Amino acid sequence: MPVETKTTCPYCGVGCGVIATVGDDGAVTVRGDPDHPSNYGRLCSKGSALAETIDLDGRILHPEIAGRQSTWDEALTLVAEKFSAAIAEHGPDSVAFYVSGQLLTEDYYVANKLMKGFVGAANIDTNSRLCMSSSVAGHRRAFGSDTVPGSYEDLELADLVVLAGSNLAWCHPVLYQRLAAAKARRPGLKVVVIDPRRTMTADIADLHLAIRPDTDVALFAGLFSHLVRSDAVDQNFVAAHTTGFAEAFAAAVSFPEALERTGLPAMQLREFYRLFTQSEKVVTCYSQGVNQSSSGTDKVNAILNCHLATGRIGRPGMGPFSLTGQPNAMGGREVGGLANMLAAHMALESAEDRDRVRRFWQTPTIAGRPGLKAVDLFQAVAEGRIKALWIMATNPVVSMPDAGAVEAAIRACPFVVVSDILKETDTARHAHVLLPSLGWGEKNGTVTNSERRISRQRDFLPAPGAARADWWQLAEVGRRMGFARAFAYERPAEIFAEHAALSAFENHGGRDFDIGAHAGIGSAAYDALGPFQWPQPAGRAEAETRFFAEGGFYHADGKARFVAVTPADADRTNAAYPFTLNTGRIRDQWHTMTRTGKSARLSAHIAEPFAELHPRDALEIGVAPAGLVEIESPLGRAVVRALVTDRQARGSLFAPMHWNDQYAAKARIDALVPPLTDRVSGQPASKNVAVAARPFKAA
Ligand code: SF4
Repeated sequence: MPVETKTTCPYCGVGCGVIATVGDDGAVTVRGDPDHPSNYGRLCSKGSALAETIDLDGRILHPEIAGRQSTWDEALTLVAEKFSAAIAEHGPDSVAFYVSGQLLTEDYYVANKLMKGFVGAANIDTNSRLCMSSSVAGHRRAFGSDTVPGSYEDLELADLVVLAGSNLAWCHPVLYQRLAAAKARRPGLKVVVIDPRRTMTADIADLHLAIRPDTDVALFAGLFSHLVRSDAVDQNFVAAHTTGFAEAFAAAVSFPEALERTGLPAMQLREFYRLFTQSEKVVTCYSQGVNQSSSGTDKVNAILNCHLATGRIGRPGMGPFSLTGQPNAMGGREVGGLANMLAAHMALESAEDRDRVRRFWQTPTIAGRPGLKAVDLFQAVAEGRIKALWIMATNPVVSMPDAGAVEAAIRACPFVVVSDILKETDTARHAHVLLPSLGWGEKNGTVTNSERRISRQRDFLPAPGAARADWWQLAEVGRRMGFARAFAYERPAEIFAEHAALSAFENHGGRDFDIGAHAGIGSAAYDALGPFQWPQPAGRAEAETRFFAEGGFYHADGKARFVAVTPADADRTNAAYPFTLNTGRIRDQWHTMTRTGKSARLSAHIAEPFAELHPRDALEIGVAPAGLVEIESPLGRAVVRALVTDRQARGSLFAPMHWNDQYAAKARIDALVPPLTDRVSGQPASKNVAVAARPFKAA
């Protein structure tokens, strides 16, 4: 009899429910789960092709030490000894974990606990730093906590949906399907797309604002001024629930300044401001075009300022909405899996919170200050300050900015552990110890999507070879480092129960994240757990689905903060590097293609690395349509196919970040991106890179 398992897609932050069926012959098929409230049965191309990407080709099946097969005991003992020796000789800050939004919450929880609670340092950062850390920082500045206030259904209930720096059609396809279907049912629903590129998402837009790169702060600071001058401010909400309005207004920009900085036609800017002002139900979604910027946090706060000023937050069809890129970026935030966060939304900088977590974990030590964020972490590796590094479920040799320097740093690091499912990733080949992890369909735990919905990923396939869960690997190393009692987990349900208990421990300072209702969950209830949105405090049956409609922010005075934001100069081009390179994603590939690259169907969508450029730019520099274009930044060169299209603005290029040198020579786009970061969040600026472009001539 075929066996069906309800699980969750492992790709984007939409977090679609999937039903996987294993047939009598062992063949796997997938379909969307009609009961899952995030997708109601829908799947996108990537989700539909999941069964094509789970073969065992290229899998790591046994632990390896220096390229030779070893036992688990030998490998884990070596890892524990090397980490312990580095800590003993050089201190706790000499070791680091670099983890991933692909990890399940249970994996993330154990990694964070081991590093912050028992090593006593905070050097655990994640590839989610590259994805949404500016949103986290913006939320914390405005709300006093990292809280996404809305739900997906708000997009369907809105009168106006603003998509800022979000190619929803390709990067969150099922959410796009929900929005497009709502718009088809209700033509009064307007969509505004803010993106320098005319993306596929812009095809359903009533208004596409092709702003100059990185001018979102000016756009929304100008909107803030307009709201004030149009008498559209919700004075009652502002007076009762916010502070800092006058300072934010003083810093806001005039219409002429917004026009000049964004480069938009006056009619378009006026129309956007009119739509936002006159539509009662407004949702503003923002994603990597906002976050991946040296002014990413200010962009987020410029957006939040406009929603706070109008009181359009937390009510049906209203609110700012940060869309996470990865399947468990939100779960990582919940357990504090970033270098500047603690656990259960508690603050690393708060002595009270640190003491609360320390007592809960029953550990004598806890990290006392933030650790190294992703770019700084690899810089520390390059400088020899990190003596032992553990990389889990991510491929920084391709995905980090200045990827070539990251590769050199990893190669020079004295001890590198990589836990992954594939043996030949660009990062795994530099590992001293390679640990075989479980892949999708084999692992068992929870993930949280962009709307704070926690769903189960369940196993329906046997573990291949000796592969084991990431949480198990971490716990075994923790035990071998001398922390046996704290890491005595036998199954993921125990970790989830502990995580839920911590979220409710001593009311954890009264913060928003509370799943205390699940603190005592046993294995059977965990196995049966259906998708739910947090918070779910103990004793309260009904979960809230929105935050802040009646205030209740998490700063000490209960009020939100307006943040005074000032537009920065966004033009990085110069005579040597006259083009702006914008990096991003395509519809049918995921990150560095280690899984989606296995599907012929997905690879047929776009078969090779490319760069989009405007026809007049192509003509001027002599690049023929479908010819090869060489893109150069001060850090290196890439050679890709030229896709000449007027979807691209003049003076700019777009190139996806998926391909690496494994798939095509000189295609590693992130190797061109400098390690420039947002000063608040530490998120790299991957969307606005000054480059030169020319026809490629073979030497
Ligand atoms: Fe998976 Fe995202 Fe596609 Fe849903 S929209 S099926 S979560 S990739």
